[in-house]
Amino acid sequence: MTQYTDTTGAAEAEAPYELTALDRCDACGAQAYIRVTVASGELLFCAHHGRKHQEKLAEIAQSWHDESSRLLVDTRD
Ligand SMILES: [Zn+2]
Repeated sequence: MTQYTDTTGAAEAEAPYELTALDRCDACGAQAYIRVTVASGELLFCAHHGRKHQEKLAEIAQSWHDESSRLLVDTRD
């Protein structure tokens, strides 16, 4: 008898990051770490441009997904 382990919940809990190296900043093309959902769609920004536009976008953003904290880990090596 085969035992199936449901890892769906665990995978979601252990992988909170949704952005990948394929996601690029709309402003400069660098890897995106911030995803902003607005009425017209989604905007992707690197950490630099995310902060730069944060004040303006905060007024219209429906959700703000920020993975820029990954940079602290990613740049260590
Ligand atoms: Zn950028």
